[in-house]
Amino acid sequence: KVRTRVAPSPTGDPHVGTAYIALINYCFAKKHGGEFLLRIEDTDQARSTPQSEKMILDSLKWLGLSWDEGPDVGGPHGPYRQSERSDIYREHCDRLLAGGHAFKCYCTSEKLTAMRRQQMAAKQPPRYDGTCLTLSDADRAELDLANVPYVVRMKIPEEGICKVQDTLRGEIEFEYRVVDMQVLMKSDGLPTYHLANVVDDHLMGITHVMRGEEWISSAPKHLLLYQYFGWEPPVLTHLPLLRNADKSKLSKRKNPTSILFYQRAGYLPEAMQNFLGLFIRSASEEDEMSSLQKLIDEFDVKNITLGGPVFDTSKLEWLNGRYLRESMDSAQFLDAVKAWALNDAYLLPIAEMAQARITKLSDLGALTSMFFMNRIDGQSAARLRDGVKLDELQQRQAYHLTLTQFDALIDWNRDGVEASLRRTAELLDAKLKDVIRPMYLAITGAAQGVPLFDAITHLGRDVIRERLRHALE
Ligand code: ATP
Ligand code: GLU
Repeated sequence: KVRTRVAPSPTGDPHVGTAYIALINYCFAKKHGGEFLLRIEDTDQARSTPQSEKMILDSLKWLGLSWDEGPDVGGPHGPYRQSERSDIYREHCDRLLAGGHAFKCYCTSEKLTAMRRQQMAAKQPPRYDGTCLTLSDADRAELDLANVPYVVRMKIPEEGICKVQDTLRGEIEFEYRVVDMQVLMKSDGLPTYHLANVVDDHLMGITHVMRGEEWISSAPKHLLLYQYFGWEPPVLTHLPLLRNADKSKLSKRKNPTSILFYQRAGYLPEAMQNFLGLFIRSASEEDEMSSLQKLIDEFDVKNITLGGPVFDTSKLEWLNGRYLRESMDSAQFLDAVKAWALNDAYLLPIAEMAQARITKLSDLGALTSMFFMNRIDGQSAARLRDGVKLDELQQRQAYHLTLTQFDALIDWNRDGVEASLRRTAELLDAKLKDVIRPMYLAITGAAQGVPLFDAITHLGRDVIRERLRHALE
């Protein structure tokens, strides 16, 4: 039975790339009467958050996807969150050590940095040099007795070639001498992506792994691990990454990448799903509106072309307009508007912000219109000068500095927003109020309005990024 999975890391906003990969795995499994799983890969404890996990699950559900097994629905192969599976990984790591397929490495980070520097100077690929492979059992016993921290690395054959079969690319050859002796278990006893991913794919019965092409170079390590464990590897398909219009990898610096952005900007889930589906349909059908069922029925891996699929937002816009105009009557349209922004969850915080700044109810329209917009047009830093004390260069710097800090916030909340703006003022050696004025202009389109920190928090990171980016254009 076909079993596929999507395995997001909950380290940020729900990425449209995750949705694209999920959709492909979903359609492939359903086409073959199989099962689709969702697994949370939260081995990077410092960067993973429960909020991010929730946003990813909610976004994929919003898009109309569902999974047969996962952290929220359970299933026979759980738990489906890697942070709850540490014992399983430790046990498997011990098996590799006992079988002589992995070794303990006691090298310090200073030593590893020096090693990397030397290799870079000699124009060699960065690779662990095997120092700890030469330790004797007695050396190891002594280091362990002294409680010297260690990681566990996998062994890689000295020579030879690994042949990776990829559905879309055919056979790809990798020389073992350039494959790194990957860390499998960190010094805190937690696994790396590579160990956890292989162990889970096997234990969860995954038959087909379809993932982003950035993982191709990891395939030789994964195949070796399957071999070391004596397991049958899954069929591998590496999917072309989504691209910006200039063909570079889709990145939030050039194009919004978070599904939350598209929700807030008023795109319908049907349109987004249809749009992502275009990447996996044959070109002749590109102009059609299609349902999820149609995508499943017509799914064929061969329709995925390797030339990077361009995330063309004008196409999304066109599709969205069609859905809004052609696929609903006015009552359904009103329901869509309510689901988008005319609901208590979205309106209550806006009401709270507006109440403090209002003299009659009819002030509401002008005061709050920016909560119902995407970009605010006609704004560039050069034009946003109304009452701004900073000079034009400083104003642009204020937008830049704030963008960078907002992107670096792990959690998006009012305290983080306020701290970022205070820091921008500090870095520019300016008063907070002099930074706030140009922020109002870029974000609300007016020189003042509802409380700024609350408004920024409520609009969300992605809409704010888009407005600041726009002001910098
Ligand atoms: P950005 O450059 O915008 O910060 P990123 O590469 O840092 O993006 P990640 O947070 O690393 O994004 O990725 C989140 C998930 O989205 C990963 O599972 C990754 O495979 C997927 N992803 C990221 N970029 C793309 C892309 N261009 N196409 C398809 N999937 C992508
Ligand atoms: N956690 C990885 C990611 O988010 C999964 C990659 C894979 O599918 O193997 O990209």
